[in-house]
Amino acid sequence: MLYVIGHKKPDTDSIVAAIAYAKFKQMLGIEAKPCRAGELNLETKYVMKKFNAKVPDLLEDATGKELVLVDHNEPSQIIDGYEKAKIREIIDHHRLGGLVTSEPIFVYIEPVGSTSTIIASWFKEKEFEIDKVLASLMLSAILSDTVIFRSPTCTDKDKKIAKELAVIAGIEDVEKLGIEMFKAKSKLAEKSAREIILTDFKEYTFKTIKVGIGQVETVDLSELKPRIEEILQEMDSIRTEKGYNMLVMMLTDILKQGSLLLYSAEKGEWFVNAFSKIKMERKGDRVFYAPGIMSRKKQIVPPLAEFFGK
Ligand code: MN
Ligand code: MN
Repeated sequence: MLYVIGHKKPDTDSIVAAIAYAKFKQMLGIEAKPCRAGELNLETKYVMKKFNAKVPDLLEDATGKELVLVDHNEPSQIIDGYEKAKIREIIDHHRLGGLVTSEPIFVYIEPVGSTSTIIASWFKEKEFEIDKVLASLMLSAILSDTVIFRSPTCTDKDKKIAKELAVIAGIEDVEKLGIEMFKAKSKLAEKSAREIILTDFKEYTFKTIKVGIGQVETVDLSELKPRIEEILQEMDSIRTEKGYNMLVMMLTDILKQGSLLLYSAEKGEWFVNAFSKIKMERKGDRVFYAPGIMSRKKQIVPPLAEFFGK
């Protein structure tokens, strides 16, 4: 029996690729079972429920099993006990991450947007039937991994396969499905302002200036717009409480590809001066919209380092 399994902390692609590839193996007459290496995230839960799909069983330890790894190959991401298992195959779309095996194995890695893209293309090649549920799942996995076709990792092949899967699944508005999935994942509406600020928060020191930068990604900024005042007030509290000189918050719209930037600072002019070279539109007191600004590391930190001095 082959146990087909994705990475720890599974995402939608890891779960769906395991289901799809186990099915593919079965159609080739090989005994295979899809498994998962951990709890489903909120997005995957939403997808599985929406399409009434069976959730793969949890495999806690791989000792003694024959494994097919999908959607990963880095040792740190592989299920516990894999050293005492036999890894037979790897189907993936990530870089090689240093796994060593005792025997030759089948490895297929293609730089496309999702593992599900690869497996769907194999169903097509073999002219194996893809049922409606499986098509819906594989489409969802592609949408998830490619951030609804926006990620730089998304290829023409992903788009083409997704289109074909959408037809089989009978899903007309693919974008809408993607947005629903990302909303289910972030559950922003249920989070407090403090959680929104601190969930993905990093701290930087420029000379003597301590800056905290938070980021939240959304597919629909209108979800957050009514809460901007509340978020600003909470930023003020956190800044005083934790002794930051400045806090910046990025509310990033991954579909429109831009961010609302909010700040709380000891000196009001810091923000405007530090980001004087960035195209921004004032949206309110301490609120700017910056089109094209998506990356804290590449676009927000460098101007601050430049302004305050490294
Ligand atoms: Mn993954
Ligand atoms: Mn993936």
